[in-house]
Amino acid sequence: MAFEGLMVSVSGVRGRVGEALTPEIVTQFAAAFGAFSLARSNSNAIVLGRDSRVSGPMFHSAVVAALQSVGANIIDIGMAPTPTVQLAVEHHHAAGGLAITASHNPVEWNALKFIGPAGLFLDAAEGKAMRAYLDMGIPRASWDKLGVLTHDRDAIDRHIEAVLALPFVDVEGIRSRKFVVALDTCHGAGADIMQRLMERLGCVVHGINLEPHGRFHRPPEPVAENLGELCALVKKTGAVIGFATDPDVDRLALVSEQGTAIGEDWTLALAARVVLGQRPGPVVTNLSTSRILDDVAGRLGVAVERAPVGEVNVATRMRDLNAVIGGEGNGGVILPALHLGRDAPVAVALLLQLLHESGGTVTAIVSSYPQYRIVKDKLDRPEASLDVVYEALRRGFPDAVVDTQDGLRLSWDDRWVHVRPSGTEPIVRVIAEGPTEADARELVRRCREPLDALVGSI
Ligand code: MG
Repeated sequence: MAFEGLMVSVSGVRGRVGEALTPEIVTQFAAAFGAFSLARSNSNAIVLGRDSRVSGPMFHSAVVAALQSVGANIIDIGMAPTPTVQLAVEHHHAAGGLAITASHNPVEWNALKFIGPAGLFLDAAEGKAMRAYLDMGIPRASWDKLGVLTHDRDAIDRHIEAVLALPFVDVEGIRSRKFVVALDTCHGAGADIMQRLMERLGCVVHGINLEPHGRFHRPPEPVAENLGELCALVKKTGAVIGFATDPDVDRLALVSEQGTAIGEDWTLALAARVVLGQRPGPVVTNLSTSRILDDVAGRLGVAVERAPVGEVNVATRMRDLNAVIGGEGNGGVILPALHLGRDAPVAVALLLQLLHESGGTVTAIVSSYPQYRIVKDKLDRPEASLDVVYEALRRGFPDAVVDTQDGLRLSWDDRWVHVRPSGTEPIVRVIAEGPTEADARELVRRCREPLDALVGSI
């Protein structure tokens, strides 16, 4: 079945509200997901949560009707972070979970994220099997077997308690520091859990953009260029750190005590320092994440494993390797001691633990490591296979370490470049990192040569 303008990825479906994404489309996918989940589970419960987007209540109604129509009992946790939905799926031993959220995408977007019974997003094979229901017809329940809607109002409370119970977090020690912190949740779903967690950790919290009304007044992705207000708030309040979350609270970005957005790659690297310092073990991230993680882990005697881009790819590799921590360079920290999902509340607790146990400032900690710059480029995806490009690059860089799990990644001791076709858009991404921006730009330029030649030859 084809859907015009809809972005269908491994574990989700997203689109602009009123264009590609309508209640009819959402209903079809939610019903297919419900039927798929119930068919492979002993449970007939599906956990449902949503972020703060204005379109959230409308799609919530559509999802509830769709799930009831296939006989799924809905456990509604209301407005909640995506990691809270994932934890609730595990808690209730449900057949699966649905999060209505377009994550960091702009205000006009919304989406469904599909969660399996273990609290992980659907992988490629599961996503394909689920979507097969769209083509073969969705089995609907008769009037006497329709699903029932119930509410679980404790999911966020449980999430907070679980974070505070983590072995890596010295709650009393952090409380004794009475940290002054700044918080920007961009009118997403994060204000409630973040404020309460920080207060339980003894912090004095200065917040902005906390009202969860979903009318984002800035692009909601927590990248440095969007965090000017938070930087100013840190300076004004004398906070020791600033925290920014995306609307569904699985990504966390940091602002230093000097009011500088330090870049999302540092979130995972600094969280890993805390965890590996206490419990050295496997670390997993994706192929496009900064090598600052390699430096941080390397000082603690640990080598970093890399998986293809996509949260589920990182999460399943972590499960297979029994990793102690992992995640993505976009501020997504995954701590298996709690669960295999990106979790901003977990990251906040680990960062406060770092400030507590190191006794230093964010700036001092960051400047004790090598500094890198990342440059990102993209171009329209050629019709022809990229294999000829990969061949040319391997010949052009004979001294590089080669990784072909996901496109082509070439790496050296202090730099790398990753060329990969996007999974959701008709583009090729070229991402490079080096000691300086000029180094990274040069790597991108060298990779663009065979790519541009291929586009020009068609
Ligand atoms: Mg997100």
